[in-house]
Amino acid sequence: MDELHHFIAGKRVMGTSGRFADVHNPATGEVIARTPLASEAEVARSVDAAKAALPAWAETPPLRRARVLFKFKELLEANLDKLAKVVTAEHGKTLEDSRGSCARGIEVVEFACGVPHLLKGEFTQGVATGVDSWSVRQPVGVCAGITPFNFPVMVPMWMFPIAIACGNSFILKPSERDPSVSLLLAELFHAAGLPAGIFNVVNGDKDAVGALLRNRDVRAVSFVGSTPVAEQIYHLGSANNKRVQALGGAKNHIVVMPDAAMEQTTDALMAAAYGSAGERCMAASVVVAVGDKVGDALVERLAPRVRGLKVGPGMDPGSEMGPLISRQHLERVKAYVQKGVEEGAELVVDGRSLRLQGYEKGYFLGGCLFDRVTPAMTIYKEEIFGPVLSVVRVQDLESAAKLVNEHEFGNGTAIFTRDGDAAREFSHQAQIGMVGVNVPVPVPMAFHSFGGWKRSLFGDHHMHGLEGVRFFTKMKTITTRWPEGLRRGVKPPTLAAE
Ligand code: NAD
Repeated sequence: MDELHHFIAGKRVMGTSGRFADVHNPATGEVIARTPLASEAEVARSVDAAKAALPAWAETPPLRRARVLFKFKELLEANLDKLAKVVTAEHGKTLEDSRGSCARGIEVVEFACGVPHLLKGEFTQGVATGVDSWSVRQPVGVCAGITPFNFPVMVPMWMFPIAIACGNSFILKPSERDPSVSLLLAELFHAAGLPAGIFNVVNGDKDAVGALLRNRDVRAVSFVGSTPVAEQIYHLGSANNKRVQALGGAKNHIVVMPDAAMEQTTDALMAAAYGSAGERCMAASVVVAVGDKVGDALVERLAPRVRGLKVGPGMDPGSEMGPLISRQHLERVKAYVQKGVEEGAELVVDGRSLRLQGYEKGYFLGGCLFDRVTPAMTIYKEEIFGPVLSVVRVQDLESAAKLVNEHEFGNGTAIFTRDGDAAREFSHQAQIGMVGVNVPVPVPMAFHSFGGWKRSLFGDHHMHGLEGVRFFTKMKTITTRWPEGLRRGVKPPTLAAE
């Protein structure tokens, strides 16, 4: 069994706190590594390293910083399969899902390679007679990222490539459930020529997070995880005078109109609800069928597909869906399914009895499908974060939009229709950060920005794209006036004195 480490000031550093967490292979239930849980002193050491390295990096011209990112991108592409295998070993998702999510992370590096252009300021010649004004964006300083288990490459890469391209130094505190791949990312970034201390990885749990939030030298905190923790981090970080963006949970509704292309919609729902075993903050977890005919048609099409899902270890190329992250989470998701039954929803497909020969100790759950779910039910109100899809039936688009807007979360939503007017109105009225039209998982590309509304995001800035650049930089506006000089025959002071 491997003992993992931290990565501080360009070096592997073994944990000294004496506290560890087990890392499991979710397909077998085996413990495959143990990760150190950093103490306040170890966090302080990483912050000191990041602070010491900062001035030289912040003064490095953006063009030269970008060259390190170009090299990093090359190394990431060359190591894509290795990265994906490490993700699958500790997270459990299929290799195809792991590869896809790493590729989305690499796209953020590609975006960050354009940093010389992104940091070009604004200039006004002549804000008054003889006075010019210009704005620049300068680094914030030492930044920290705290990330969830479900995308151990992509989510950290929403943050650190942009922060570092903008001239900051960074400390990543990855999820303690799948931490190994962050260490690999750090090795690759240093192999690309990043100076020591600019990107550090500190492994740990809530104690390490608390230490980062209390440390006065950490200037900005980027968080992604569950809503209760996001809210707490936003308040604690802000109370400590830090800039904070904290992305939380979700309950993404897919509205299906009577004129939707049903086959295409069913395909889209299968991928959006059961991909990565539903452990995605943009997973489709509620289908809002507009009209009973739509509800019947969807359930009829979905049920056999859900029953037929090929559930298996993520390393097996034949698997369509891997296990959940932990035994505890598996039990939690099963308890939600039971609650749904008790509260009167119709369980059309029950994946709870799934057993996989040879993987009896793995955290597998078959796909589950509920029909006739109502807004009062727990399975409608709360984020389940598993392969459980709920069908809610309404009579018109207004009722569907009302459901979307009244839910506490506001991460993503989508509408399936052939009617441009309905799609336009729905997109306009949705109180949601990311909206799809016949696109079930409307995740913005790296050069746009990712983020929800309501209790899915605390703070002002979304992730990556221009929002990311704004979050990781401070604006400065310089106004200049020059007195008349040599051109008008004014002598320099030394000559005037002669
Ligand atoms: P989590 O909130 O349990 O953990 C996230 C991070 O916070 C981890 O690094 C963890 O160590 C740390 N943490 C946990 N409890 C803490 C506490 N009490 N104090 C301080 N730090 C703490 O989330 P998770 O289970 O790893 O991830 C799943 C959640 O993340 C889901 O709710 C999902 O919707 C959300 N998520 C949201 C987005 C988004 O973009 N909105 C993206 C991915 C995941």
